Amino acid sequence: QFPLGRRLPCDIYWHGVSFHDNNIFSGQVNKFPGMTETVRKITLSRAMRTMQDLFPVEYNFYPRSWILPEELSLFVEEVRTMKDNNPSWKPTFIVKPDGGCQGDGIYLIKDPGDIRLTGSIQSRPAVVQEYICKPLLMDKLKFDIRLYVLLKCLEPLEIYIAKDGLSRFCTEPYQEPTLKNLHQVFMHLTNYSLNIHSGNFIHSESVNTGSKRTFSSILCRLSSRGADVKKLWSDIISLVIKTIIALTPELKVYYQSDIPAGKPGPTCFQILGFDILLMKNLKPMLLEVNANPSMRIEHEQELSPGVFENVPSPVDEEVKVAVIRDTLRLVDPQKKKRKDTHLSFHTYLLIFPSQLQSLHAGIAGMKDKQHKHHSLKLSLKLKFYLKLGSCQSLEQAREVSGELRGAPQSPEAALPSLCLKQVFPKYANEFGYLRLVDRVAALFIRFLGVKGTTRLGPTGFRTFIRNCRLSNSNFSMAAVDILYIDITRRWNSMGIEKESGMCLQAFVEAFFCLARKKYKSQPLHEQVSALIELCECRLAALHRKRLVWGCG
Ligand code: ADP
Repeated sequence: QFPLGRRLPCDIYWHGVSFHDNNIFSGQVNKFPGMTETVRKITLSRAMRTMQDLFPVEYNFYPRSWILPEELSLFVEEVRTMKDNNPSWKPTFIVKPDGGCQGDGIYLIKDPGDIRLTGSIQSRPAVVQEYICKPLLMDKLKFDIRLYVLLKCLEPLEIYIAKDGLSRFCTEPYQEPTLKNLHQVFMHLTNYSLNIHSGNFIHSESVNTGSKRTFSSILCRLSSRGADVKKLWSDIISLVIKTIIALTPELKVYYQSDIPAGKPGPTCFQILGFDILLMKNLKPMLLEVNANPSMRIEHEQELSPGVFENVPSPVDEEVKVAVIRDTLRLVDPQKKKRKDTHLSFHTYLLIFPSQLQSLHAGIAGMKDKQHKHHSLKLSLKLKFYLKLGSCQSLEQAREVSGELRGAPQSPEAALPSLCLKQVFPKYANEFGYLRLVDRVAALFIRFLGVKGTTRLGPTGFRTFIRNCRLSNSNFSMAAVDILYIDITRRWNSMGIEKESGMCLQAFVEAFFCLARKKYKSQPLHEQVSALIELCECRLAALHRKRLVWGCG
C-alpha cells in the first residue's frame, strides 16, 4: 500500500480492482484493461453466443441465455416454439441482473411471463438463462466449483489453471425446481455470501467436510465412486480454454486502446475466478467468470450477538495462497533477467516468509553451543537487514542467508511444486481452429485508425471494405454504408455507454453477415473462415504492393 503516493516504478503492480492507472509505463500489472467489462454477465453471454453460433457443439457448456430487456420477445417466442416441439419439456429459468454478484437480485422462474420488469433491481439489464435442473449432488446438496485461472499473457496467449479449487455448498438438501421451492435460495444458489447466513452453514477445520471444501476432496470422493476423474479434468481444461478464446477478441480491443503498441507501457496478467457447475452426468457447465475473485483467507465468526472476529479459513488458505504464490513465481521479473532460474531475493522473501520462522526453529534445535550462538547472531543480522528493506541491505541479507545455510541455495528449490498448470499454448493445436473471432478482431483493430479508440467509424469501415475488395456490383458502397448504419445504430441503442461508432461485437455481426452473403450454404464457421482468409490475403497483397511503390 502506498498511503503517501508512489514514487518509484515497480516490477509488479498488484491492483485491488481494475487496471486503471495512468502512471504505469513499465513492469507488470495484475489486471487487464477492460476485463471487468468483458466478463460482465451480458458481455460474457454475448461472446459465448457468438462462439455458439460458430461452433454449437464445442460451446455447449454454456447454458442457453437471452439478454433482457432487448431479447425478451425472442426469449418468449423461442421457449414457446421449443415447448411446442417437445411438450414434455418443463424448463426452469434463472434471471441474473447484469453486473450483479453474490447472488444479488437472482430469481428462478418457470414461465417467461414471470419475468419482473419493474422495480429498481428488476429494471436493470439482465441475463435469463436455462436453469440446470440436474446438478451433481454430494451429501444431497448442490455445490459449485470455483477454479482459479491465470491469464498470463494475451499475445501470445498463455493460460494456467490451478490444480485445486473450492467447492461451495448449498445448505438445504436439493430438490428439482417446483413452483413451491423456486424461492429457496439455500437450496438453489451456491453463493457463499448467501449460504453463510443459513443456520446450516458449517465452517470446517478440514478441507473435505463442511460448506466449503477443496475441489480435490470432491474429486477424491468421485474417484472412489468409480467416476472418470481424468476425463472430468480434461473437460474442465477445455471449458476454460474455450471460454478464454471467446473473451480474447474483446480484451485485445481494450488492450490496444489502453496500451498502444510501440508506446512505453506495462504488460498485464490476471487471476480469474471460474464458476463451474457439474451436471449429474459430470459434464462441467460454465456459470460465470469473475474478474476479481475474492482472495480472502479468513472468514468472519460471530463470537456473541453482533461481535465478529476474523478467523483463518484453512480451506481458503490451502487453495488461494498457492495461487498467489505461483502467480508471483510465474511473473517474477528477476527470473526473466537472470537465466539461472533463481528467484529474486525480494520475491523469495515476499512469498516465503515462513522460511525465517523455520530458520529460527532450526537454530533453537542446534546442539553445538558455539555454532548455535554464531547462527543466532547471523539470524539477528538477517532480520535487521530485512527490516531496513533497501536494495543494498537486501543484498547483505542475501549474503548472510547464504552464510547461515552453509552455501547459497536456490530459493526455488525450497518452494513446493507449482499448483498452476500451463494449458495454453500446451494444447494450442487442439483449440487453434476456434480462434476465428480473434482474427476478425485483428482486422477490426487494423482499421480503427485513431490510437486509443475502441470504435470503428464509418470511414474506417469503408476503408476495410475497399482494401479487402468486398464491394461489387451486388454490394455497392451505398449498401456498405447502410449495413454500417443499421448494425451500429442497433448495437449502440443496446449499450449502456452511449458512444458513437461501431463496437467490436457490431463489426463481428457485420462480418458474419458479409460471410453469409458471399459463401452461401456452408456452415457459418466455414463461411467466416473463408472470408477471413480472403481479407487477410488481400490485405497482405496490398501491403506488398505498397512496399514496392514505397521503394520505387
Ligand atoms: P453471481 O455473480 O450473483 O454469483 P452466478 O451466475 O454465479 O451469479 O449465479 C449465482 C448462483 O446461482 C450460482 O453460484 C449457482 O449456484 C446458481 N446458478 C447460476 N446459474 C445457474 C444455472 N444456469 N443453472 C443452475 N444454477 C445456476
